Amino acid sequence: MSTAGAADRLASYRSKRDFAATREPRGATAAPDAEGGRRFVVQRHRASRLHYDLRLEMGGVLASWAVPKGPTLDASVRRLAVHVEDHPLEYFDFEGVIDRGLYGAGDVIVWDWGTWQAHPPDTDPLDAVERGELHFDLDGTKLQGRFVLHRRGGGDQWILVHKHDDAAVGGWDPEQHPTSVKSGRTNDEGAANPDEEWLAPTEAELEALDDLGDGGTWRVGGDAVRLSNLDKVLFPGRDADDPITKRDFVRYMTTIGPHLLPYLSGRPVNRHRFPDGAAGDGFWAKAVPANAPNWVTRWHDPAARAGRTSDYIVADRIATLAYLANEAAIELHPWTARIEDVTRPTWALCDIDPGEASSFDDVLVLARLHRVALERLGLEARPKVTGKRGVQIWIPIAPRYSFDETRDWVEALSRAVGAVVPELVSWAWRVSDRAGLARLDYTQNSPSHTLVAPFSARPSPGAPVSVPLEWNELDDPELHPDAWTIRALDDRLADVGDPLRPLIGMPQELPPLAPVRKRVVAGAGSAAR
Ligand code: MN
Repeated sequence: MSTAGAADRLASYRSKRDFAATREPRGATAAPDAEGGRRFVVQRHRASRLHYDLRLEMGGVLASWAVPKGPTLDASVRRLAVHVEDHPLEYFDFEGVIDRGLYGAGDVIVWDWGTWQAHPPDTDPLDAVERGELHFDLDGTKLQGRFVLHRRGGGDQWILVHKHDDAAVGGWDPEQHPTSVKSGRTNDEGAANPDEEWLAPTEAELEALDDLGDGGTWRVGGDAVRLSNLDKVLFPGRDADDPITKRDFVRYMTTIGPHLLPYLSGRPVNRHRFPDGAAGDGFWAKAVPANAPNWVTRWHDPAARAGRTSDYIVADRIATLAYLANEAAIELHPWTARIEDVTRPTWALCDIDPGEASSFDDVLVLARLHRVALERLGLEARPKVTGKRGVQIWIPIAPRYSFDETRDWVEALSRAVGAVVPELVSWAWRVSDRAGLARLDYTQNSPSHTLVAPFSARPSPGAPVSVPLEWNELDDPELHPDAWTIRALDDRLADVGDPLRPLIGMPQELPPLAPVRKRVVAGAGSAAR
């Protein structure tokens, strides 16, 4: 399973495509950690004929079968599955339009994803495919249980069946489950926005916002949203800068939409609202207001107790961001779980919360220790500055752990990190008992806690923004946790983009921590001090 092997396996994929023309990824040659590589994806692909592409990560590529009628949980059904060329790992979350005239022209959504395991577990999957028979378990959002792929004759035609197990469901039809697990959208909705998942407002739409006076109806992305008090100051200026009006904030929230919405779509969002501006008092809002536009996506919590919030906003379009900006929702806090299963978070979060006596250098020491620990555990993660004083570490995880399991895991990680630098960290619950030290707040991994979204603003002068970083940016002496404001983000996005975005939806498993704790401590200490 060498890197060169993975590259060779992509020769057929590359020879069929013109990467100057298609939005599909060319594919890097770097093979992942062989241990970590057990993702699967099913893409619903409306090409000249509708089919579902089942892809299993093995040997540094995505081994692929096109299933015309789609996989099913119905164990009485045999599906034709055509073995097609290996695809690069970067194809894992590909969703979008392949333009007319190109190979595979049509539209693609991420219909399901998760992890897979060969059966029995010691099977060499490359070998099994070579032999023409692979038994495997899928743990996805839609697909669960044991499947078998076996080759029929000597060609590319295989048969896909679901075994009679607990996950089998008679009569189960993939066409009854048409939305993307990545974006929540259907193929039709994806095809309507061919250039990007979400389009920022057009120049004409932004001019119309400027011409709106103090309020009125703004049309953006095909939706109409009522805006009010647009000239009101929402944020004082930083230093000598002009203050920021609600109109400025509506413009920011909608133009940042293509970067912000990937963190919000498919999740309820809690809002920290400041109707009197960032200098005034804020309050938390969870429920959908009765007068919210009818096009705002809502999620009803079937488990909500009487008298508690039961209906939430799901921000999945640009106009919803304009609506939220208009209600002075300065901070957006998406849930860490998606609406498909709100009991299973998709992010494990480490919140480095500085105390009165903590310097930003102290915070950086703690953040770098997290980096060392996570690298040793083989986990992908990224830091992000909060826009205030702190740094958070976001770790994408498979939606299979409860909040309790996730919190316990982060606590174990945090305690291992904290043990390296006990002089910087307090475990006291009350702020007044912490002697000004930092807290590694693992309790954020709970359904009732949320952290500020990447690219959300904070209620401080100048409207600073929470921004994801590359790990090596922690070593930049110019780094400040509130350096970027809503007026100063364009250059950064042009230069660095969003280092966290490729990690969205990565179904990582949380490795057991107890045995590695000692090694983490020993290694992290020498690397960081
Ligand atoms: Mn296809």
